[in-house]
Amino acid sequence: MSRDRVYNFSAGPSVLPESALESARRDLPDYKGCGISVMEMSHRSPMFQEIFDTTKARLKAVLRVPDSHEILLLQGGATLQFAAIPMNLMEGAAADYAVTGHFSNRAAKEAEKYGDVHIACSSADSGFDRIPAQAELKLSPDAKYFYYCANNTIYGTEWQYVPETAAPLVCDMSSDILSKPVDVSRFGLIYAGAQKNMAPAGLTVVIIDKALAGRELPITPQIMSYKTLIESDSMLNTPPCWCIYMLGLVLEWLEGQGGVEGMEQIKRERARRVYEVLDNSRLYIPHAEIGSRSDMNITFRTGDKALDAEFVKGAAARGLLNLKGHKVAGGMRASLYNAMPMEGVDALTDYMKEFEAKHHV
Ligand SMILES: *Cc1c(COP(=O)(O)O)cnc(C)c1O
Repeated sequence: MSRDRVYNFSAGPSVLPESALESARRDLPDYKGCGISVMEMSHRSPMFQEIFDTTKARLKAVLRVPDSHEILLLQGGATLQFAAIPMNLMEGAAADYAVTGHFSNRAAKEAEKYGDVHIACSSADSGFDRIPAQAELKLSPDAKYFYYCANNTIYGTEWQYVPETAAPLVCDMSSDILSKPVDVSRFGLIYAGAQKNMAPAGLTVVIIDKALAGRELPITPQIMSYKTLIESDSMLNTPPCWCIYMLGLVLEWLEGQGGVEGMEQIKRERARRVYEVLDNSRLYIPHAEIGSRSDMNITFRTGDKALDAEFVKGAAARGLLNLKGHKVAGGMRASLYNAMPMEGVDALTDYMKEFEAKHHV
């Protein structure tokens, strides 16, 4: 790590691989002898088309996306998909929603505008500290899809299994996509805002089973119709060109790290090191139940708000940034995305131990 970089534990936008940032800097004023920047290129130009095609092919290879599925590179963030999904897939009927955190709750609320939302499970009563087991899921026979959020960024819980459902699976993978292998063929639709684990903010990746396209409600805006977006290869309007280019650089880095298999090993080790400190602590209280813990976002508190604030402040003074928990959850949150170096994790656990030694009486 270069001297002036710090360790950024932000939940998103978040840390990017340094090599990707360096390549972007190198290419910035003059992309491969074109004489212009990627930011200045027409999205219809052959130069950009090549970036687009290469990035999409890389993503397809890294995630082993089968030919039955299409990759869309879109704008609008994960939040736009909260509406796009029911408009395209609910057919004015019903869908099952697993509510395990803030974003799945918001997605369910949005979907209520377009049909009947059946709550398949909710962990709201216990402060979203757990993921329900398969046997707890209430599945309805009329559901057009089953919706869940694979990793709850705010509360720090993560599904450790892929649910078995008759209805197609729709999954928000914003904060754990590319962190482990996924059998894409099991999903009707996967989507993710790029700014957690893939690229800068402004890009949303949707991976959809093509057989599910073409079912949208007549009121669905053109720009939200999966069918139209598939037909135009994500270029119905201007795509987020710069973010797509950056995603390509991040994927190039990720391939060098052993792909999603490599990422999974590293993410397990990162999380193991932090949970080990939490589990051996008499000061920190981890939020998530064992068995539901996220490897990506680790949430904990001291039980004393002033002490939490002191922890966050002291960390920042050491170059460990953005450890404050989300405002709806409080406490602390360490986001350990793909690009977080192991040295950053060790700097964090050293600090946690020192802070505990100083403050625990
Ligand atoms: C951040 C996040 C969102 C919201 O993403 P936007 O791109 O800001 O709309 C949705 N779901 C999850 C799991 C997230 O982490």
